[in-house]
Amino acid sequence: MHDIARQSQQKIHKQKILHPATSICALEADGPRKIADAQGIHVTDADGHKAIDGIAGLWCANVGHGRAEIADAMRDAALKLDYFHTFGGHTNDMQEALADELIAMAPEGLSHVFFGCSGSDANDTLVKIAWQYNAMRGKPEKRKIISRWQAYHGTSISTASLTGLKSFHKAFGLPLDFVKHTDFPHFYSQAEDGEDETAFSARLLSRLEQLIEEEGADTIASFIGEPIMGAGGVVTPPEGYWQGIQDICRRNDILIIADEVVCGYGRTGHNFGSGLYGIKPDMMATAKGLTAGIFPMSAAFISHEIHDVMRTASRKLGGFSHGYTYSGHPVGAAVALKVLEIMKREQLVENAATTGAYFHQQLREAFKGHAHVGEIRGAGLVAAIQLMADADSKTFLDPTRKLAAKVSEECYRRGLVTRPLPTMSSLALSPPLTLARGDVDDIVEITKAGIDAVMAAGS
Ligand code: PMP
Repeated sequence: MHDIARQSQQKIHKQKILHPATSICALEADGPRKIADAQGIHVTDADGHKAIDGIAGLWCANVGHGRAEIADAMRDAALKLDYFHTFGGHTNDMQEALADELIAMAPEGLSHVFFGCSGSDANDTLVKIAWQYNAMRGKPEKRKIISRWQAYHGTSISTASLTGLKSFHKAFGLPLDFVKHTDFPHFYSQAEDGEDETAFSARLLSRLEQLIEEEGADTIASFIGEPIMGAGGVVTPPEGYWQGIQDICRRNDILIIADEVVCGYGRTGHNFGSGLYGIKPDMMATAKGLTAGIFPMSAAFISHEIHDVMRTASRKLGGFSHGYTYSGHPVGAAVALKVLEIMKREQLVENAATTGAYFHQQLREAFKGHAHVGEIRGAGLVAAIQLMADADSKTFLDPTRKLAAKVSEECYRRGLVTRPLPTMSSLALSPPLTLARGDVDDIVEITKAGIDAVMAAGS
């Protein structure tokens, strides 16, 4: 056990970094945690404390850490072509090979891919494409985007607006008004008395239709959703939900953007979360697992139909006036190609399905009848544990007590990195897809011990 996780490192930290999603005061009080090394499914901090990386970096280190063949691929790519831009029709072998691989595995109907650097920019790109597509179809007023409360779509100005977590809005005067949020589809916390999953979905879908009617379908460009909501709680859709969303969107000429930044590339035991739920997206955002977190890279996909309209538009507009210095980066593409090769060779999507099924079964077993665990959510190798004040009477915890963060700290001390999801008083697990059954047993054991220790202390 490890008791000096943060304090001893405070001395070495120079406090010159503005950390993402971090309270400056809490950082000053607790000190940072410096991660010094990562190998396989483990990370080691600057104090030499080793822990299972139960969140795969930040839902992304899908092939595990420290792969020499990926480092070699980066080196080879950098020596051959370290960088050149892809504006104005420039290309390189690496991005071309990657585009071929990605389109071959993408959900049916997606035919073209745009490369960027982050999940946020992938979603930004797709919003702009939705706007351009509608303008070019003679429907320039069709611009609003419907998102969900508790969604996470990024932190740029537009994607923080799409994000449905109020903490990402309040200090910045967001969301921008082109975004309309609809209900959070979490059955366990949001269903009304006596409602089953199908009835819950039907209620939410009818409220969505009402929103579309109030706003006017001719003002709405797109619906954006994560197949499984990640940072907002690892929330799986209730029965009939996605089918209903698709029916409503098709009827109202509203494009569907699947945000697969967490779900994509095997996390759910399918290539994409869309495959798990029968979603046929018009556009799809991916990042994270694309390069297993090793290079900042995103891939935003569009359908043939959208591409056709953009193609026609380019005769009038000239270029597609959008792009990033690092779009189609040859070194990033080389990393992604190597990651995809490893995923295939080691059958990691299949492993996410089979070891994932064992993972969920073990979690459910370990917490069956637990006084402080209300629900285990997720699919494949992504899960959340819902902490409760009292599971029997379904009494939720007050999120301001920050018990999920305390449990997460306790798990870390016991050798497991988890991610607290504070608004939900939940603990997220999203380990590398290389996980073995024995690792599952370790993760479940530590998680249970961590939860029991914090809840027994009544803190
Ligand atoms: N979409 C989803 C579903 C995400 O989980 C994230 C990041 N956690 C993003 C978008 C944004 O990605 P990035 O941090 O790379 O901008």
